[in-house]
Amino acid sequence: MDAETLVIVGTGPAGLTCAVYAARANLRPLLIDGTLPGGQLTQTTEVENYPGFPEGISGFVLMQNMRQQAERFGTRSLSDTVARGELSPGGPHKLFLGGGKTIETQALVIATGARPRWLGVPGEEELKNKGVSACATCDGAFFRDVPIAVVGGGDSAIEEALFLTRFGSKVFVVHRRKELRASKIMQERAFANPKIAFCWDSVVDEILGVDADRVTGVRLRNVETGELSTLDCGAVFMAIGHTPSTEPFRDQVEMDERGYIRLQGQSSRTSIEGVFAAGDCADSAYRQAVTAAGMGCRAAIDAERWLAERE
Ligand code: NAP
Repeated sequence: MDAETLVIVGTGPAGLTCAVYAARANLRPLLIDGTLPGGQLTQTTEVENYPGFPEGISGFVLMQNMRQQAERFGTRSLSDTVARGELSPGGPHKLFLGGGKTIETQALVIATGARPRWLGVPGEEELKNKGVSACATCDGAFFRDVPIAVVGGGDSAIEEALFLTRFGSKVFVVHRRKELRASKIMQERAFANPKIAFCWDSVVDEILGVDADRVTGVRLRNVETGELSTLDCGAVFMAIGHTPSTEPFRDQVEMDERGYIRLQGQSSRTSIEGVFAAGDCADSAYRQAVTAAGMGCRAAIDAERWLAERE
């Protein structure tokens, strides 16, 4: 079994920033890529709010840059996932990887992020990759000149809707309330875009098209009036928030009822000594690339201090 000093699980902005700091502190961290190398930002288009890029930067390029920066200082990485963690207060902690390998580490940083949520309505599962998607950047270009529905009212929904106007003949934002949750600037852009229309107070009860093997529409229900209607569309994009990817550590480390890892005070320490957490897996409030990066920095410093105290 390989014995490591510091393992970081996850390669989004939290994991990679943690790796930059830990590598510069000569800890030679080992990164485990996780299910989506580079994290959620690799699936977004332009990132306009990461400081230092006045013209914006592609999410994919930003993450590539962070990885190169981490590698420059001696970070090693493993293209694998953690199937299960066995954590012991004070360490060493064991990680059982999806590929069959087991790794032991003194300090562990969990930076596994979060993944998109789905509605769980009839037709959704059957039509995934056939018009049902949670990533406009990945799948939007397949749906040219057809109406497209986007479900949700937050920044993700509006960002997806704006992006999808490049392809769709019309983009319908289906939101369960009358008011968007998205930031003002995103709302203004959406309201000003003639290709975007809103279905307020509406939820999707069913995704239509299972027999045709492709999305042909969605069945909408007005939550105020109970009225049912059909919206014809060729694709439906979900943007209804995220679930933290913390299952491999469930029952091992303290989490809240939604599965977000609980941190101790202002630090990145978890309920298990020698285990730290950073980014969206431990943050249901901010969930920004820059806050995740800041949390990654904090976890590296906390882990480094903890390791130094034990020497
Ligand atoms: P979010 O802010 O949690 O919004 C989720 C949206 O989905 C809400 O409008 C919510 O409705 C709706 N929703 C949740 N469950 C639903 C269900 N079962 N059925 C129908 N609708 C449902 O998530 P997000 O948009 O992914 O954003 C997450 C974080 O990332 C936020 O902090 C956001 O600011 C940030 N972000 C920023 C940018 C940017 O600045 N460019 C881009 C993307 C994300 P309610 O409003 O009724 O709760």
